[in-house]
Amino acid sequence: MTVLRTTKLFRVSPHINPLWGRSSTPAIFEIAFCAILVLLCPASFLIPWSTLELCDGSVGKVLVRLGDMDGVYSIFKSAQASLPSVIDPMKLYGIWVIFQATLFIVLPGATGYGERTPAGNRLRYKINGLLSWFLTIGVYILGALSSWWDADIVAKQWMGLMVAASTYGIVLTVVVYVKAHVSPSHSSDRKFSGSLFHDIFAGIELNPRIGNFDLKLFNVGRVGMTAWTIVNLSFAASQYKHFGYVCNSMIVVNILQSLYVLDFFYQEDWYLRTIDIAHDHFGFYLAWGSAAWIPSMYTLQAQYLARYPVNLSQTTALVILLVGVFGYWMFRASNHQRTVARRTSGNCVIWGKKPVVITAHYTTSTGKRHTSLLLCSGFWGIARHFNYIADLILSFAMCAPCGTQNVLPYAYFVYMTVLLIHRSIRDEDRCSKKYGKDWELYKAQVPYALIPGIY
Ligand code: NDP
Repeated sequence: MTVLRTTKLFRVSPHINPLWGRSSTPAIFEIAFCAILVLLCPASFLIPWSTLELCDGSVGKVLVRLGDMDGVYSIFKSAQASLPSVIDPMKLYGIWVIFQATLFIVLPGATGYGERTPAGNRLRYKINGLLSWFLTIGVYILGALSSWWDADIVAKQWMGLMVAASTYGIVLTVVVYVKAHVSPSHSSDRKFSGSLFHDIFAGIELNPRIGNFDLKLFNVGRVGMTAWTIVNLSFAASQYKHFGYVCNSMIVVNILQSLYVLDFFYQEDWYLRTIDIAHDHFGFYLAWGSAAWIPSMYTLQAQYLARYPVNLSQTTALVILLVGVFGYWMFRASNHQRTVARRTSGNCVIWGKKPVVITAHYTTSTGKRHTSLLLCSGFWGIARHFNYIADLILSFAMCAPCGTQNVLPYAYFVYMTVLLIHRSIRDEDRCSKKYGKDWELYKAQVPYALIPGIY
């Protein structure tokens, strides 16, 4: 039996759970990395903002500015000058969060269930994200048509809204950190690393709730993913306002990214069984990430095009759109194969055949043995994380409409590549602890992690 250490800030009863999903004490460089991210990320939106606003969209120019203290100071001064008042954006952001929370609570929805947690809990969720997304878009468009607000309201108040989003993400991080110690939702599903910074960054509680209100699903889905679409639409409106037209590259970006978000909500039940909800704990990474990182980094293409329109030939626009739709199809089809194989216990047809599966065994912290199913055919027979490759094709197509003039819009693709490679390594480690020799059997059956013959 292993007793994991708790952070020094609070004293809690020893948490006992040496099983999968409970990583060992992090190395010193991991702790340092978490600390750097927690300290630097909250102001990270200043870099794309200054690249677009002060440096003609050029990453090279912004790097030169960041190279000396005068340059850094001038960025802060310009950011301050572009923010006449922080009160109005704070109010607007507050209304946004309250509106999303209201929809999350009151809208009807089917019941969905998450994966069994390491402590053996299986949580219920209300699935109403799709209705909430349509209602939000509807209200935004109705408000713009009725002149209650301008369609470019988000683009116009961008700096203030980013400050508000980042502040909300930090406050949320502190709230869930304290809640994990004083009032945990499922105390046996907490993870303590022994490091304050690691606990703040990676989170302690797996699925923190206030009553039935699930903080993780709400913040990632409603605050983060819904914002992605609204921010994109608002920057398209901003382009129209400044140039008198919306360029075809902006349309392609909006179509592909809205498709991705729409899919997220249409498949919300599936999302409950992905790593974000089923395995990652709720700390700065997901709390600040969904509040500030998604709206600022995932929307870079629309932000870029609003200032620097790219007019693609109709053929190029169509080819990029088709590549994106192909990536999306593969992304959805691969994720769907896994869902169907598990739901039917392998009694289904994949690519015209009965699927090849491994019945894998695992134990929860109560000592109870369970079985799960690992699919080894279809997309899951090509590589163990082939759904990530599909996502990367789509991610590239989301950036490609911005052309080759500047690299900034491609930051999303670079970020997704790093995120998904790191995620595949993390997931392999967790699954190997969870399934033991059954995972080794799976690896022997499907030897490559991402790209057959290479990795
Ligand atoms: P997966 O949906 O691939 O889930 C991985 C989990 O699936 C594993 O932990 C394991 O969980 C189970 N599993 C692994 N292998 C198999 C198998 N052969 N058969 C059945 N189940 C298996 O990962 P993610 O949650 O990371 O990603 C989901 C999708 O979301 C991906 O397509 C990804 O590209 C996308 N994504 C997008 C992000 C974005 O920001 N745009 C961020 C992250 C992901 P178990 O313990 O249940 O066995």
